[in-house]
Amino acid sequence: MPPSAPSRPEVLAADVRAGSRRALAKAITLVESTRADHQRAAQRLLELLLPDTGRAARLGVSGVPGVGKSTFIEAFGLHLIGGGKKVAVLAVDPSSALSGGSILGDKTRMPRLAAVPEAFIRPSPSAGSLGGVTRRTREALLVCEAAGYDVVLVETVGVGQSEFAVASMVDFFLVLMLAGAGDELQGIKKGILELADALAINKADGQNVRPAEQAAAQYRSALRLFRHATAGWDPPVVTVSALEGRGMDEVWAIVEDHRARLGASGELERKRREQQRAWFWTMIDDGLKGHFLARDDVQRLLPEMEAAVASARLTPTEAARRLLALLDASGERGGRASVRSRRARSA
Ligand code: GDP
Repeated sequence: MPPSAPSRPEVLAADVRAGSRRALAKAITLVESTRADHQRAAQRLLELLLPDTGRAARLGVSGVPGVGKSTFIEAFGLHLIGGGKKVAVLAVDPSSALSGGSILGDKTRMPRLAAVPEAFIRPSPSAGSLGGVTRRTREALLVCEAAGYDVVLVETVGVGQSEFAVASMVDFFLVLMLAGAGDELQGIKKGILELADALAINKADGQNVRPAEQAAAQYRSALRLFRHATAGWDPPVVTVSALEGRGMDEVWAIVEDHRARLGASGELERKRREQQRAWFWTMIDDGLKGHFLARDDVQRLLPEMEAAVASARLTPTEAARRLLALLDASGERGGRASVRSRRARSA
């Protein structure tokens, strides 16, 4: 076998389970590859690993650039490792392909954590749409679980749809905030309060301790106005200093409390099942769209329809109907052909 050829999924799965970091990195590369043969091997690999997944605490960490995500993840990760845990850091950053910057979950942003053998850090897959990046990160998460990581942190930027994508793959979604000047709640998106299982006001150190406490009080009262998505859970608000490593134990205690309570009530299982089901339907949606766009007749008509919509000569509804009708047309032909062949057979 040439050295560049990928390992057989069976071999790779065994090596991942045995805790080989090299195998883990290789497995994630396979999962991230868009090549059809790699994808087949990746799906076989995941199938083999599936019985060993599901045991980790899956944690999303979000917040606007500069809030201190990488500083927090490094301090939090080291805290957990100090407590005997193995920690993996993944990321969802669909912008990284375009900007080349802010590639989340980057080792160079967390040098101390990256140097520890109990930590595994993987930057965001950079190619493709949010859907593509999300799928790869979800599957990388499963591989990390099979490799025995106790906590998987999934980092994302506090902008756009990537937060929803991460919230839909984790058990617990932590949002980092800052105490700012002026009205704390002015800039906050309602959506983020509904997603958050806890808020941590970061940079509560030095001069900033009091403003951070005040911001926390304001967020606490704001959160009372929302009915949280998870029954039996009121998102706590805490202040932390990632730089000084303060509050890491408190955040972990909250995560453990959440796991214990939702685990006991069956809510965690329900949440994960619902996430699986939603993922399944997303894959069907994506697959159907991919199939549709790969058709020659669709490719031929698509530019004309797009132009007609853009210049308001056709409504989007009508343009979409004409394109989708191509499916019916070929379906009818298929239907007629099968009627003919049935007749031929019965004749
Ligand atoms: P990210 O863009 O969200 O990943 O933010 P970084 O972790 O890169 O942090 C942005 C800046 O804030 C850096 O200069 C950090 O040193 C600083 N920072 C992060 N956490 C804290 C903190 O708890 N206290 C203070 N004072 N500064 C912090």
